[in-house]
Parts: sequence; structure tokens; C-alpha cells
Amino acid sequence: MNKIRLLPDYIIDTIAAGEVIERPYSIIKELLENSIDAKAENIDIHVEGGGENKIVIIDDGKGIDENDLNLCVKRHATSKISNNDLSKISTLGFRGEALYAIASVSKLEITSKTSLMSNAFKLLVEENKVLDKKPSKGKNGTSISVENLFKNFPVRKKFLSNKKTENYYIRETIKSIAISHPRISFNYFEDNKLKFVFASKKTISGLKNRVLEIMGQDFYESSLFIEVKKNYCNIKGYISIPTYNKSNWKDTVIVVNNRVIKDRNILGVIKAAYAGLLAGNRFPVLVLDIKIPYEDIDANVHPRKTEISLLERKKINSTLIKVIRETLEKAGLINSGIYEKKLLNTFYTDNKKDNVTKQIIFPNNIKYKFDNEVQSKDIASNNTINDYKDFRLGFAIAQINSMFIISQTKDKVILIDQHAAHERIVLEKLKSSFFNNNIQRQILLMPEIIDIDSDIKLFLDNKKKIGELGIIFDGYGQNSIIVRELPSILGKIKVKELFDDLYLQLEKFDEVNLNSYQIENLLSSIACHNSIRAGRKLNIEEMNNLLRLMEETPNSGQCNHGRPTFVELSIKDIEKLFGRI
Ligand code: ADP
Ligand code: MG
Repeated sequence: MNKIRLLPDYIIDTIAAGEVIERPYSIIKELLENSIDAKAENIDIHVEGGGENKIVIIDDGKGIDENDLNLCVKRHATSKISNNDLSKISTLGFRGEALYAIASVSKLEITSKTSLMSNAFKLLVEENKVLDKKPSKGKNGTSISVENLFKNFPVRKKFLSNKKTENYYIRETIKSIAISHPRISFNYFEDNKLKFVFASKKTISGLKNRVLEIMGQDFYESSLFIEVKKNYCNIKGYISIPTYNKSNWKDTVIVVNNRVIKDRNILGVIKAAYAGLLAGNRFPVLVLDIKIPYEDIDANVHPRKTEISLLERKKINSTLIKVIRETLEKAGLINSGIYEKKLLNTFYTDNKKDNVTKQIIFPNNIKYKFDNEVQSKDIASNNTINDYKDFRLGFAIAQINSMFIISQTKDKVILIDQHAAHERIVLEKLKSSFFNNNIQRQILLMPEIIDIDSDIKLFLDNKKKIGELGIIFDGYGQNSIIVRELPSILGKIKVKELFDDLYLQLEKFDEVNLNSYQIENLLSSIACHNSIRAGRKLNIEEMNNLLRLMEETPNSGQCNHGRPTFVELSIKDIEKLFGRI
């Protein structure tokens, strides 16, 4: 081993800067946070060459006094901690590191003026050396320009992506910070072109407007407002309904005490709240604004301050799960509308493609027949549709391909995926009977013996717990089990497939303890194996029974994997399709 020696200052600086400044968006984040701490109301952001060439942030905040200008770029120089107290931090910055770190890896220019100064002053810094300070033109507030990023830091420069990707990260950073501060207006310019404007909203409905502005109409219409107030936390925000889901967490924004954070623990808690409503590889989208007493929070656990420690984490987690689940359950039958839009778009584009003069050719010898021709006559004569037109899912009038139900309300036509809908109903029934300790079981006339190709011990060790879910079995020889009873609601099913799916769930848990997260997952994998699968023919009465059950069943707008159980088209949209309006 070589002799131990202290590293030279410039290496220490670049190592320290490397922790704070990962890529151009980190600079944007730090500078925006400084402007926000300086109480700016309007912030302009200019980015050139993906941030590598130039970043300029201009704010109308309190400004920096001439005497403080030289100091603000020094390490651990901050105006935000008084009495050396780290226990109640209410500003976004407090470590006094950002400007110093930025100055270590770029050419930095700070122009600033407070309301007490008659003119602005400009400071020039390169590789942490102050090169010049001189009077300058400038309004109240601060303008910071960063050039030649990572010029002296080739390793980091090598890892930068192309301009487009860096711009993407920058935009996402600005958007999430804008959500965390709806009262501030942001103008964003990319290579001298104005890319977006988030106008300030000083009203009470600030968050709502910002969410609409940034997350878009589709999200807004597919989300539910939540709000809960406790003495250890206040939570408010928008949570997507399960049919509005994504393949990752990218769009979710979590703000704690005005700080945008990336907290895996909170994301895990959210995922648990959606258990049974979404497939494992799909994620909801949320905008959460959480307020926690400053003394209960430690933001000083991560160099980029994106993670936090919370004193009352357990209480906050359970409050969050509760409010999400209750809100989703109370919401009843809604779905996100994006499916209908997709459907309509395919119609509209098809129309354009083919032109209206297209010829329709019917194949020979094909007999067209509705599955429920006979019953539909009864309906017309009894005027039954009218009696049901006020029900949320209306009156079922036909079935297509023994898979989908068509129903009609006063002003809509609804298509229902019968398997997805039934799966949800079975799950909710199983859940409520599980929590009342009475899952009804059915004794199999012929006990079924199945070979287990996976780890049989996992089943045998958890026999009692699986029994509580309504599945009674015993070991049978070395690699088989004998299944004696199953939940009656499932009807006749393929037992081997049920056990294969159960295995996939069980092996995910370190220990099977039937907490509410495990219950959701286990019961939803059981509910998949119900009998009214796609392909079963239903009569009008059975179809309508299914619709009425859906109306009473919590969460029945989506199946257990987050797909919609129904889509609807308004009669108006159908009229539009035919060019009537
Ligand atoms: P921190 O934000 O942790 O205090 P920084 O290095 O980011 O550390 O900033 C150092 C100091 O410079 C801040 O404490 C603040 O006094 C001053 N400062 C930086 N940016 C601005 C700004 N945009 N407006 C007013 N003051 C600023
Ligand atoms: Mg700062």
C-alpha cells in the first residue's frame, strides 16, 4: 500500500462538488431553490446546449448584499442557519454548498441587487477563484450564469448524455419544483426559445391550477383530490385512479415541506395502498403535498437533499395508506377517460385514412347474429331500459363474442369486459369475507392431487395461513399436495394454475404474515381464477346482475391489474363519429 497523504484542495473541491452536482439539472435545482429561498415571485430559466454550454437563472428575490457577494461562493457559507441550529430548517438550502460546488466545476457569474442598493454588483468566479467584482446594471434580485460546465472535470463530462436527454431531465426538474411552488411563475427558455410558462397562481386553488398546467387535463380528470389533517402531518394532493397508470414512478411528485423529494419508502407505501388495484409492474401517478412539523424532519441525510428522515414515519405511512384507499373506494365507478379517447382516435383516424367513399365488402356465407337476440325483444316491449337508465352502468342489452357486455344509459353506450369486472367482484367479496373470518369453502367431491414443481415446503410451512384464505390442502408424497377445499365463490377452476400463481406471490414475501398488503396480493391472485372467464355466454338477467354487482362493489372500475373493466362512449361522441354534429 502507498503512503497515506492528504489530497490537494482542488481535488477535494471536485470530489465535494461531484456529490452535489451530478449533471446540469442538479445546477438548475440548486439555483431554483436559492431563488425560492430568496422569496422570488418570478423566475426565468435559460439553458443552452443541454446546460453544458450555459445556464442562466434570473429571479426577482431579495438579492445579495455587495459585502456578501464574495462570501456566498465559499464552502459552508450560508445565510439560512441562525443560532447554528440545524434542528428546525424551513429553507430549502442550509448547507452552504451549492454555489461553492457550482463554482468548482464551471465559470460562474453572479449579478445581484437588494432593494437597499443603488446599483447591482457582479462577481466573476472561475475554478473557485474570485476574478473580479464590479458595479453592474441590474434590477432588484439575482441573476446567476453558469458556463463551461465540467470543463475541469472530464470524467463527469464524459457521463453527460446528449443534449436532448439533459434537456429532458432539466424540464422534469423544473416541472416538479413548479408543482412544489404554485405561487411562483416560471419561464423556461431552451437555446433562446421559450419552451414553457407556468404562470403564478396566488389563489387558494394554486395547486389545482399547477397540476392542470403541468400534469395535464387527462391526469386531472383521472385523479382524485385527497386531504387529511393530523397533528403530525397534513397531506393533500391528487392521486390517479388505478386505470390511469404508468410503467414507472417518473410522473409522481412528492413534496414534503415545499421540498421535492425522491423517497423510496413513501413510494413503497403508495404502492401498498394500490395493492390489488394494479399489476406489480404498473404504477399510479400522484402529486402529494405533505407538511410535517419542521422539528420532526431531518433533511440533512443526503448530499442532494432528495431523501429525508422522518420522526413519525410509521404514523404518516398509515395515514397515507388509509386516505388513498378510502378515497379510491369511495370514488365508486369512474374510469380515466383515456381509453375512450384512444378508442375515438382510432375511429377518427381510420375515417380520415379511408375516406368516406370506401366500399364495404361483406364476406360471403357469414351469418350475423346477436348472442341475445331473443331477450332484446323483451326489453323493447317492457321498456326496461327506461327503468334502468339512471343506473351508473345502465341496462345490459347484448353480449359480444361471449366476452363483452353492451349496456345503455340515458346518454351513453357502455362496453363492459365481463371477466375483468367479475374478477374485481370476486376479489372484493373474498376480502370482506376474509376480514369477517368467513370465507365460504366448498369441499371438492374428488380431492385434487397436484404436482408441485416449485418449492413444496413454502406451501407446507404456510398451510395454516393459506387455509385462512379458504384453501385447504395436505402434503401428499414428496412432490405433491392434495387439495380438499376451495373458496366457493371461485366455482370450478384449474387448481394447478391457482397454486402456480399463489407460489409466485408467496415467494415474494420474506415471511408470510397476512398483513393487509399480502392479503391484497394473495387474494387478488386467487380472484383471477374465478369462473366467469371470458368466453362464457350470459343471459340478459345474468349480465344485468353483474352490472348491479359492479355498482355496489368498491374499486370495480378496474380489474386487479389496473385495466379498466368498462369503457363508455357518450351518444354525443357517437353522433360526432357519424358526422351528425
Ligand atoms: P445555501 O442555499 O445552502 O445557503 P448556497 O451555496 O446555495 O447555500 O448559497 C449561499 C448563499 O448565497 C445563500 O445562503 C444566500 O444567502 C445566497 N444566495 C444564493 N443564491 C441567492 C439568490 N438567488 N438570491 C439571494 N441570495 C442568494
Ligand atoms: Mg442553496
